[in-house]
Amino acid sequence: MNDIIQLLPDSVANQIAAGEVIQRPASVVKELVENALDAGATEIIIHAKDAGKTLIQISDNGCGMSPTDARMAFERHATSKINSANDLFSIRTMGFRGEALASIAAIADVELKTKRVEDEVGTFIHIIGSEVKKQEPVACTNGTGFSIKNLFFNVPARRKFLKANTTELKHIIYEIQRIAIPNPEIKISFYHNNSPLYELPQTNYRKRIVDVFGKSINQSLVPVKEDTSLIKIHGFVGQPKFARKTVGEQFFFANGRFMRHPYFHKAVMQAYEKLLPPDTFPSYFLFFELDPGNIDINVHPTKTEIKFENDRAIWQIIHAAVRESLGKHNVVPSIDFDQ
Ligand code: ADP
Ligand code: MG
Repeated sequence: MNDIIQLLPDSVANQIAAGEVIQRPASVVKELVENALDAGATEIIIHAKDAGKTLIQISDNGCGMSPTDARMAFERHATSKINSANDLFSIRTMGFRGEALASIAAIADVELKTKRVEDEVGTFIHIIGSEVKKQEPVACTNGTGFSIKNLFFNVPARRKFLKANTTELKHIIYEIQRIAIPNPEIKISFYHNNSPLYELPQTNYRKRIVDVFGKSINQSLVPVKEDTSLIKIHGFVGQPKFARKTVGEQFFFANGRFMRHPYFHKAVMQAYEKLLPPDTFPSYFLFFELDPGNIDINVHPTKTEIKFENDRAIWQIIHAAVRESLGKHNVVPSIDFDQ
């Protein structure tokens, strides 16, 4: 019998990886905006057409790439963000797995224009389905611009199962919120079919939340602050009297990264115990800063699940911090729910 095992070609391996990293247009937005953050951008502009199904365009004024790096960036496991396994325990960047660009290029039509400050001309690269169609010098501004068309052109099942534009657009908006809220110092704009949905100026945390969710949220927010050797917490929780019947805006960020954390969510909700009108949900925006060596963000390719060492102790700290803020702002259990 002949041996039958073979290594898959890169383009196939990339397409398989893409299935995990890129689920919908919003995943492309997330990955490219995170790359812009990692590139040190102070301004990020996002354009989408037809909820990203027709076009996603992201440009930044970050560090740009050399011609060689620009090509290398599309290789699988190619990253400038870590060098060794040890670096996995000190991650400060949004990316590190080196698979987003390879994945996107495997399942779409991708154009890149990029230029570093020190270079006279930039680089243009056009890739379709992992195949480089063109690479040439181009005159462009400092920074990086990606243009993604025809997403999932070679994965018909994925393309077919994309939801209606309103749903896909909502997912894009969620991703932009998750990046805009923890990065108030960065200007972020988002245009859908050329109309502006966000034009967020550089500001502070509170104002950024207000710019994203509207003025009415401002009066409900009370600050939370707690510094311990294990974790530093800052942010805001919504006063119980502003809690609504629909699930509020509830956000955790760990070292600037949005995360889901049902266990810590309970810590917040228990701090509200007996304060909330029945069947209502408070908003919260809590930012955690902690030693990256004490968390593991490498649980899933999309990195929204994070494992914490000492999660029980952190639970207590969150609970106490939220409870204290609600107490300090005169939120007492005798609140009149009919008001
Ligand atoms: P990762 O972010 O995990 O490193 P990506 O596939 O997202 O992997 O990107 C690969 C590499 O391409 C990055 O490590 C970075 O060096 C470079 N890169 C990607 N996007 C940008 C950008 N907007 N500006 C500058 N460099 C970028
Ligand atoms: Mg990345």
